[in-house]
Amino acid sequence: MRRYSAFAIAREAARHHSGWERAWRSPQPKASYDVIIVGAGGHGLASAYYLGKNFGITNVAVIEKGWLGGGNTGRNTTIIRSNYLQDPSAAIYEKARRLYETLSQDLNYNVMFSPRGVIMLAQTHHEVRGYLRTAHANALQGIETKFIDKHQVKKLVPIMNIDGPRYPVLGGLWQPRGGSARHDAVAWGYARACSDMGMDIIQQTEVTGIRRDGGAVAGVETTKGFIGCKKLGVVVAGHSGVLAEMAGFRLPLESVALQALVSEPIKPIMDVVVMANTVHGYMSQSDKGEMVIGGGTDGYNNYTQRGSFHHIEETVRALIETFPMLSRLKMLRQWGGIVDITGDRSPILSKTPVDGMFMNCGWGTGGFKSIPGSGWGFAELMAKGHSPLTAEFGIERFREGRFIDESVAAGVAH
Ligand SMILES: Cc1cc2nc3c(=O)[nH]c(=O)nc-3n(C[C@H](O)[C@H](O)[C@H](O)COP(=O)(O)OP(=O)(O)OC[C@H]3O[C@@H](n4cnc5c(N)ncnc54)[C@H](O)[C@@H]3O)c2cc1C
Repeated sequence: MRRYSAFAIAREAARHHSGWERAWRSPQPKASYDVIIVGAGGHGLASAYYLGKNFGITNVAVIEKGWLGGGNTGRNTTIIRSNYLQDPSAAIYEKARRLYETLSQDLNYNVMFSPRGVIMLAQTHHEVRGYLRTAHANALQGIETKFIDKHQVKKLVPIMNIDGPRYPVLGGLWQPRGGSARHDAVAWGYARACSDMGMDIIQQTEVTGIRRDGGAVAGVETTKGFIGCKKLGVVVAGHSGVLAEMAGFRLPLESVALQALVSEPIKPIMDVVVMANTVHGYMSQSDKGEMVIGGGTDGYNNYTQRGSFHHIEETVRALIETFPMLSRLKMLRQWGGIVDITGDRSPILSKTPVDGMFMNCGWGTGGFKSIPGSGWGFAELMAKGHSPLTAEFGIERFREGRFIDESVAAGVAH
């Protein structure tokens, strides 16, 4: 693989961009692999990447039914933060946030990580208490956050109306090194690096069955035929329940549509990310100038990559109270993804009842931020059978009542 650099851009500019290589190969599947990952979203690709980089396992295929990054990874609003309450969550989300800081250099691909800062607004006294508790927990976990008062919020976001009639802003939980990154670039960067290590990324190929030999995984049935493997990682977000059913077990999660929308582009007006859990909306401004707005999940289980219309109205109505200027903006596009939500709002990174088969799912409405950390831990779990990062996130926690309750940190869909 030729490295991207300022020199390469100058060289290609001089020869009319005729020398760029394809970023990744599109191979036909081999008969078998050491490891198959199902799902070429950010989590699947990052898992494959760290299998190769950290453990030298490169006889790997990533199988994707659509195009890589076309699931939730390419549909999310890209908020990155690690201000979670419980220690296992803080560890994996902060690992991810730290890896994001140097991901562009690591992958030799500009993922446009922008640590511009994230505020979670406190608009009720209950939220003030909740975020003060989180700030204390984060201090113990070594994560830089602090509770700021309403005047500091207003200073950071001058366009905000902090005296809203229903929910005035009382303060906020501020993480200065939170921010955002370019979602497609994260998927593309990992895909390019995986392909460069000799891994096969096989797109437009759906996994339709999981073959077992005794109690162990033997491979997957696909629309391009059977492909054997010694280990299988299933990383398919909203379709995790469908794949688990193919292997003969059930998962404690639900699939629902989550949607987002963007406005017409305008001049720079807000240089931080704002989340408002009480009124349920969150917003940032993209480099193009669009206001990127996310809302809530549908109130019923479904597999439509769309979302209900009334949610757009609810989200925009809620945000207009805090950002009155929004009422003058035209909305350009709306889209949805299918997210997989567990009862304790924490992910599942786990062995399964089938030997050699592992699940990485349940990231729900907030898994973009965790992609590098999840890939790092899941690769270690698959390679060694154990990872300190994933140890608390096994499926058995639901049977044993060891929940990792993150309903405050994940209370708004992001
Ligand atoms: C509107 C919206 C806004 C969001 N905002 C944020 C945010 O601001 N911050 C944040 O941290 N998170 C956010 N999220 C959540 C985040 O996008 C997800 O948690 C994350 O992208 C999940 O990544 P993934 O790789 O697990 O899944 P995906 O990217 O969905 O990848 C799974 C892949 O598996 C493939 N697949 C499924 N079934 C099969 C099969 N049978 N065979 C082969 N392939 C299959 C799919 O086609 C898909 O490409 C948001 C999500 C949505 C929908």
